[in-house]
Amino acid sequence: MDYHKFKNLFKFATMVPIGLALLFGLTSVVGQTLAEGFVNIRVQGVLMPILMGISSGTIISFLVTRNRRLLAGQLEIERNLAQNLADLVAERTAQLSESEEKFRLIAETSPNAISISRVSDGLLRYANPASSKMLGVENGTMVGRRAQDFYFNPEERAPLMARLQETGLIQNNEILLKKVDGSPLPVLFSAAVADFGGEPHLFIEVIDISERKLAEAALAESESRHRKLYNETPVMLHSIAADGTITRESDFWLAHLGYDRDEVIGKSITDFQDEQSKEYSRNDGIPQFLENGVRSNVPLRFVKKNGEVIDTLLSALLERDEDGNFLGSLSVILDITAQKQTEAALVEAEATAQQASAAKSEFLSSVSHELRTPLNAILGFGQLLELDMDGEASEEHQSHVRHILESGGHLLQLINQVLELSQIEAGKISLSLETFDPERVLEECKDMVQERARENQIALTINTGGKLPFITTDKLRFRQIILNLLSNGVKYNRTGGSVTINCERKAGPRLRFNIIDTGFGIPKDKQDALFEPFNRLGRESGEIDGTGIGLTITAHLMEILDGDFGFESEEDKGSTFWAEFSLDAPAPTAEAVDAGRASAD
Ligand code: ADP
Repeated sequence: MDYHKFKNLFKFATMVPIGLALLFGLTSVVGQTLAEGFVNIRVQGVLMPILMGISSGTIISFLVTRNRRLLAGQLEIERNLAQNLADLVAERTAQLSESEEKFRLIAETSPNAISISRVSDGLLRYANPASSKMLGVENGTMVGRRAQDFYFNPEERAPLMARLQETGLIQNNEILLKKVDGSPLPVLFSAAVADFGGEPHLFIEVIDISERKLAEAALAESESRHRKLYNETPVMLHSIAADGTITRESDFWLAHLGYDRDEVIGKSITDFQDEQSKEYSRNDGIPQFLENGVRSNVPLRFVKKNGEVIDTLLSALLERDEDGNFLGSLSVILDITAQKQTEAALVEAEATAQQASAAKSEFLSSVSHELRTPLNAILGFGQLLELDMDGEASEEHQSHVRHILESGGHLLQLINQVLELSQIEAGKISLSLETFDPERVLEECKDMVQERARENQIALTINTGGKLPFITTDKLRFRQIILNLLSNGVKYNRTGGSVTINCERKAGPRLRFNIIDTGFGIPKDKQDALFEPFNRLGRESGEIDGTGIGLTITAHLMEILDGDFGFESEEDKGSTFWAEFSLDAPAPTAEAVDAGRASAD
């Protein structure tokens, strides 16, 4: 066999695939990693033994010789070579499968979507379970789909691919993917181009940032709400730096004072205050604020751009870091100009009212005095006349004298009550407290109205319910109160009616005096006006004498004595007025006296 032919055959033979080896009868070596064997081939009529080395189903060497020793040596070399090769292959295979295993572990357990797609058409060649989960695709069905189908905005893909082609790498690019249900999924997209199976592929990692986006949106919304609140709250808000320069102010602040933002930012807060407040803020206000970290309701005057000065109350809080360094501040300014004006007007009105009231009391008191002196003289001479007549005067004259005395008496009562009311209103009432047996006072009052009750056949009863405890209060005023209620019960009663004083012990301990009559009662629609001075609830022109001030005085006195006072009444059935006192004997306080006076005003 000539050498060239053999060489050609050798070349050919090394490329012979396993199928050809089988043809040569090497069935025993098929499937083995390494094998060698002899075959006889006929070359130009001569039978020649051929040694073939086969590894992984491929003929790797080929030796033709008749020299069997050479063949044996060669066989040894071949064996060693093949063994080394097999070891190498085994080692590489192990390395490969180890790195494959590592990749698989990383990819399968990663919370991020990891996938491989072909650059040419976007065909997905690999996608880890997180990819399916993230996009809502049934697990294991990602491979075979096209990457571009998962872009929420398909036009985003082209520029990405262009950048990838240019740089080979994209990191943390924020894009929107599309889930299977069509909803958008914000992600960070990273990719690198690399060969895979001889073709360029994208190795992609996608991080789901939907939760971060939601949190960002919530933060943005709360910030915008806060900004809106800061700007639109109808009080002035501002922040100053440690040197007093304004670093932030609300829209309302600007609108209220009439400035534009660029006229304010960087200026000192004192630039917007009147001279007095400016001096205070510089010397005391701001230094104290920096020291204490808080100010509340500091009265300051701010000057509007139009020159108008407003009264305000400023409260502020300072923020420092852990080391005590100044971080910022927030001041809240309330415009109290209107309140101040109202307050001033009120003070003025009160002063005027007090002057007027004092003048009125003064007038009433002097008029009452002036009236009482001649009136007492009239009554005195009237009584003398009555005594002197001795039956000599005609019936007509006697009736005239009685009229003079009755009308004079009524007038005196009216003057006395007006004087008393004016004294209460002027706060000129003084109390004299004593501890006494109320039952005796009740009896005295009963005696005083007995005559009138008898005239109208009205039964008077005192129901003490056993021995009454002593009470401590102003005895004269107590008598005046009971007498007024009792005489009203008799006056506004029908013939044959009754008035009962019912004493009731209550928790506290307290003692209540109920003056119950079976008289005319007070219609519901008139009850509101019961305590109005001079209002006699329509009885002005009737026969029953009165001034319409008794209950007004009684109510004020009860308040001054720190007692409770009230009534219940039903037209045509009767009324119950009650006055209740504490038995703990607390002396009426100065406040109570003031309260009585205030309600009298
Ligand atoms: P006066 O009795 O002098 O008119 P008062 O202030 O004591 O003044 O009473 C005011 C009005 O209340 C009376 O005019 C009367 O119309 C009504 N009034 C007071 N007490 C009673 C009562 N016990 N029953 C019915 N009406 C009463």
